[in-house]
Amino acid sequence: MERFGSGEDFARELDTVDPLAGFRDRFHLPAGKIYMVGNSLGLPAKDSVEAVSRALDEWKDLAIGGWMRGEPPWFSYAERVGAMAAELVGASPEEVVATGTTTLNIHALVSTFYAPEQGRTKILADELTFPSALYALQGQIASKGLDPAEQLVLARSRDGRTLNEEDIVGLMDESVAVALLPSVLYRSAQVLDMEYLSREAHKRGIIIGFDCAHSVGAIEHSLDEWDVDFAVWCSYKHLNAGPGSTAFLYLNRRHFDREPVIRGWFGYDKERQFDLNLDFEHAKCAGGWQVSSPGILGIAACEGALKILAEAGIERVREKSLGLTSYFIYLVDSVLSEAPYSFRVGSPREPERRGGHVAIERDEDAVRIGEALKLRGVIGDFRAPNIIRIAPCALYNTYHEVWRVANHLKDIVDSRSFCELSARRGVVP
Ligand SMILES: *Cc1c(COP(=O)(O)O)cnc(C)c1O
Repeated sequence: MERFGSGEDFARELDTVDPLAGFRDRFHLPAGKIYMVGNSLGLPAKDSVEAVSRALDEWKDLAIGGWMRGEPPWFSYAERVGAMAAELVGASPEEVVATGTTTLNIHALVSTFYAPEQGRTKILADELTFPSALYALQGQIASKGLDPAEQLVLARSRDGRTLNEEDIVGLMDESVAVALLPSVLYRSAQVLDMEYLSREAHKRGIIIGFDCAHSVGAIEHSLDEWDVDFAVWCSYKHLNAGPGSTAFLYLNRRHFDREPVIRGWFGYDKERQFDLNLDFEHAKCAGGWQVSSPGILGIAACEGALKILAEAGIERVREKSLGLTSYFIYLVDSVLSEAPYSFRVGSPREPERRGGHVAIERDEDAVRIGEALKLRGVIGDFRAPNIIRIAPCALYNTYHEVWRVANHLKDIVDSRSFCELSARRGVVP
């Protein structure tokens, strides 16, 4: 028996029984658009806008007094919001802090663990990861006077879309010091088995970290239980905390005594930070890996976004997210797979191996079809050479919107309305 139907009524019916339907009103939605790109930039929750405006008021009213008298005080805001995020990723409060940016946090954590002079010289990553992570790793290797071309080992993909966990484990040998892998691949949305990879890395004496930029806020994590060494993620994708907003880092508590290499005064032991001693002594928690004064406005946006996620519950968010993406896959298979539509699903079909979006592929005209979608008010995104990513967000998208996206795709091909569009892309696709 099919779980879904392809009629419009069926989509509306799914919305009437959606337990998270009420959360849509708690976001600012772009008028007249179907927004399907929350995996790149999530929409603002009204709670986030309120939290930012409260912080602005505190700045006006309390000025410098906000550091101690803000509610909550700005001085410990990064740790406090870190604790909210810890809850979301299965960590204890002191293991997570809101700080920096994803790529900078990769530098901050990898530099703590990567000590090639102690024998192991290599870093293991993969060829499908977000390139910024590779740039950071190349820089880390070069900073030790070594050649990134020799020391950075990349797990290869067999199909250009996904990674095979056994292939990654096959590269874990005694020459590898640190592994940094994505939790969810940014193109295909494949979820890697973080528990298995952590276990296998530790058997071989390798420190393992995950770049969770594409997973936090979309899927469940148990970072402590999986025994991950460290993780980083941004807040502007599935966390909905705004463009370039403050990122997060997780450090497993067994590493709190290690030394931060990228150091600054906000990583100082908090009780004595304002003694302004000349010798550095880091806080024995994730907060010790902070560098500079926290960006209060960004962290306020994170607080609002995390509050709404806690209310919805990540289990329910994940369940609806899988409902939305499974439904979209069903529509692609049943309505859009045959010629002349010729779309393919480029994401894993097994729900547990799929993150928060669906990649669809088309051999010809994918760029122009993406442009035609935009002209119809559907905001998805295009990734070269032939991928359109559709990311329905559980907190603010509906099943009916998913149905409409599929219907627009059908109509664009039927009418051949994409034919008059240019295949050139803007700088930000
Ligand atoms: C979006 C993304 C980043 C972004 O890095 P920033 O430093 O926040 O710009 C990093 N890694 C992955 C896997 C991403 O998806």
